[in-house]
Amino acid sequence: MTLTVDIRKKAYPNGCCAIENLQFSAQRGEFIAIVGPSGAGKTTLLNLIAGLDRNLDGSIALRSGAAPARPTIGFMFQEPRLMPWLTVQQNLELVLAPQARLQQVVQLQDMLGLVGLPGCGALFPGQLSGGMQRRVALLRAFIVEPEVLLMDEPFQSLDAPTADQLRTLLQELWQRTRPSVLFVTHSLREALSLADRVLFLSARPSRIILDLPVDLSRPRTIEDAAVQKLHASLLERYPQLLEGQLAPPPEKSCTVHSCMR
Ligand code: ADP
Repeated sequence: MTLTVDIRKKAYPNGCCAIENLQFSAQRGEFIAIVGPSGAGKTTLLNLIAGLDRNLDGSIALRSGAAPARPTIGFMFQEPRLMPWLTVQQNLELVLAPQARLQQVVQLQDMLGLVGLPGCGALFPGQLSGGMQRRVALLRAFIVEPEVLLMDEPFQSLDAPTADQLRTLLQELWQRTRPSVLFVTHSLREALSLADRVLFLSARPSRIILDLPVDLSRPRTIEDAAVQKLHASLLERYPQLLEGQLAPPPEKSCTVHSCMR
């Protein structure tokens, strides 16, 4: 599986140019974090890759090794987006193909144990904490075994210990089936604790300003000394990295007057 992204320009009908000259490839099993300032175009990028938005000047190509019936792209959003009127088990069954449902019912019970929710299949989302709902959403993203999993700040707005637990769980699930992951975050520590590679985006219109391999042993947490050290050395070298700038600041070449933020 290879994902090749070649976006010459992505502008919205109101004239807002979100992305310009952004190219990269992702290999099978690679965990890539995407870091950039707010409003840079990260969600726009994921939507384009997912095919939710096809209006671009450029191309997104996914050369797949999977059987045709298998879904190739999964998406995990900022909110868990569980169906409130369905139980946990029914929410999970919903994403499985009908023929897979019967076979996987027993497996689902085991999988719920694996994500720390044993015996919770009959509960409704409203009976779960925010962290538990994210666990269900994580499991739902992985049980369809996507080749590419797109994650848009999935642990935002969680307290620090819960986010830590979910990052550990994410790494465990990823190690089992090894999809390629594109994980959007504005937290450099989170990116360095999860990814094989971090793509840093400029401010809008976004392009890649730094493609950084992260060669640290796993499993990792954001508290690891090696993660902290890399974090500090990166910001020392590029103080404006999180504002989307390597020195000197990049020139902007298309108008942004009509953008909302
Ligand atoms: P990020 O995820 O990096 O915060 P987004 O991809 O959400 O950024 O947005 C990038 C830019 O595109 C922002 O300026 C935003 O206002 C603009 N934008 C996003 N969606 C739309 C839309 N549907 N119509 C017009 N402008 C949009």
